[in-house]
Amino acid sequence: MVLALCRSALLVVVTASPTFAQSPAVARRIDQVMPKVVAWRRDVHQNPELGNREVRTAKLVADHLRALGMEVRTGVAHTGVVGLLKGGKPGPIVALRADMDALPVTEQVSLPFASRVRTTYNGQEVGVMHACGHDNHVAILMGVAEVLAGMKSELAGTVKFIFQPAEEGPPDGEDGGAKMMVAEGVLTNPAADVIFGLHVWPDTVGRLTYREGGIMAAADGLRIVVRGKQTHGAVPWGGVDPIVTSAQIINSLQTIPSRQMDLTAAPSIVTIGQITGGIRGNIIPDSVVMVGTIRTLDPAHHDDIHARIRRTVEKVAESAGATAEVTIVKAYPITYNDPALTARMVPTLKKAARDGKAAVLPPVTGAEDFSYFQQKIPGLYFFLGVTPDGVNPATTAKNHSPLFFADEKALPVGVRALTQLTLDYMAGGKVVQ
Ligand SMILES: [Zn+2]
Ligand SMILES: [Zn+2]
Repeated sequence: MVLALCRSALLVVVTASPTFAQSPAVARRIDQVMPKVVAWRRDVHQNPELGNREVRTAKLVADHLRALGMEVRTGVAHTGVVGLLKGGKPGPIVALRADMDALPVTEQVSLPFASRVRTTYNGQEVGVMHACGHDNHVAILMGVAEVLAGMKSELAGTVKFIFQPAEEGPPDGEDGGAKMMVAEGVLTNPAADVIFGLHVWPDTVGRLTYREGGIMAAADGLRIVVRGKQTHGAVPWGGVDPIVTSAQIINSLQTIPSRQMDLTAAPSIVTIGQITGGIRGNIIPDSVVMVGTIRTLDPAHHDDIHARIRRTVEKVAESAGATAEVTIVKAYPITYNDPALTARMVPTLKKAARDGKAAVLPPVTGAEDFSYFQQKIPGLYFFLGVTPDGVNPATTAKNHSPLFFADEKALPVGVRALTQLTLDYMAGGKVVQ
């Protein structure tokens, strides 16, 4: 703990003293916009669109940003929308991000604005639902845009509103999401100094949680092909058994996180979720294919665990007289909250939370493509609780469930958090490292 504190303290160098005063004028503006935020959220919830297909949602957002007088770019990374709000005073450039895509999930929540939308996904007819709660993110950021646009002349800096498609991953064969937005220059011209983003999830409604450093894991794809030599099931010595070799590989892989990685620095995970090999019981096959996922939360672990996985798989296969081919596809990077920025903005999160407390969160082993923005500029990503009072967040339906439900009481907290993060960051000047 001491080390962590020192690390933050050394990195926090600000060009001016931040002010964290609660402004009644800002609070009033937020109160005024909230009925619209609720209406937008219900509208987007009722009209969900899958990744790279967020046409209606993008139009709703673009029309709103234009009506607020912003410069608006559309069609960014297919359906993304970026609005630029130039304040009346000079200052840093703050980017705020909301993801817009829904999921191929058939809604089972009984709501007057429940989704009845259906589509074809990977050849199957399915419902479409905002089962990850991105409808809340869109509505919250539209509300923040209206609040900050109303304060344009007093705003000491520029705000980039990034409405992102396909956070859940683009459809097969397509590009998309944050990675593509970054490639299309969303963080440049003008160059954003910092980025903030939030995600709703099951937790006490209005509670804000955060973590310095790795808050969500890097998720990398793992594919292993073990090649042996086919033989009769009764004569294993006549060939090389890739099935027994695969069993040894699976067990050995589990000793990498448990025996080789520093568990006190951050957890890591290696999972084999799919294994294919063989055709019948009395034939030892030629090969086995295993597919899995690798999760890391510490940037120092990321390439290291890949090297250990390759070494383990290849050497275990070699010991059996087999060969193994390891393919690791880097997917989402670690969602890494800049320590200096996080330390500096915690008072703002505390101020914005419903209970006046923002809590530190254990690391989350899921992944987020917000991480691509954070690879380019310092960013802070945090969670907003949406579980109604009286419901246990631990047992309620999770994100991606057809029963996922977000209490609208969380919406003003989200608007307050992103608005106040922008204003407080501008008041404090750029983070210098
Ligand atoms: Zn999701
Ligand atoms: Zn999500």
